Amino acid sequence: MNRTAWTAMAVLLLAPAWALAQRTSVSGDFPIYDNGGKPDFTVDPKRFVSQMEIVDRLFETGDCELEEGTVGGTGYRRLLRFDTVIINAGQDLSVGDPTDPANPYHDNFFFAACHGHYHNEGFSDYKLLKLDGSLAAPGHKQAFCLEDNLRYANDAKRQFVSCSFQGVSSGYGDWYYKQLSGQWIDITGLPEGDYIVRVTVNAIGLFDEGENRYPDTVEARVHVPDPRKKVTLDDTPLLQEK
Ligand SMILES: [Zn+2]
Repeated sequence: MNRTAWTAMAVLLLAPAWALAQRTSVSGDFPIYDNGGKPDFTVDPKRFVSQMEIVDRLFETGDCELEEGTVGGTGYRRLLRFDTVIINAGQDLSVGDPTDPANPYHDNFFFAACHGHYHNEGFSDYKLLKLDGSLAAPGHKQAFCLEDNLRYANDAKRQFVSCSFQGVSSGYGDWYYKQLSGQWIDITGLPEGDYIVRVTVNAIGLFDEGENRYPDTVEARVHVPDPRKKVTLDDTPLLQEK
């Protein structure tokens, strides 16, 4: 299902200022095409790389992240976090009301108590690999609430604006920003070295992407510092709204 993996090679911790300030402008790389009425998802490779960072964060018993399995334990955890924007460069995908039993995707939704809304189970998959391709950190499947957040095509029409009626319009992107709960890979204790971050969307193949011209997988190379080295401590509130 994943065609060529999109490899954005970059040393992320040395991302230049222009990369951080850059407005997302990848629409030209993924022009909308006639995909027989089906969506075609891909990940914005520029935002993925430009927003990537490593932070430490404290987790305590009872935190949602332990319940959801996005961190491996309590205490200070080291997180490699990033933005995932799923661009739909095919036609509109209407997923609809997750609570409607007649919805064909009904069984793939579950109610996320910490978030207070329904998530699409297993939509995306986050992994950290060693350079030889073997698994370095297990990562997790990140649950999504699909909606229109960022416009990629000038004439795109925004239709899906809440988790209670989900979908991604043609030319829109569904944005999971790094301040969101779970929008990371737990790399606590990982030895210093170079690794590959891999994000796959539509990971379980729930949605038919037709011709699937654009890759469902994005990769970037990252340098992980010595675990004893200090990184930014992030104690801002985690966002659960998406
Ligand atoms: Zn949520």
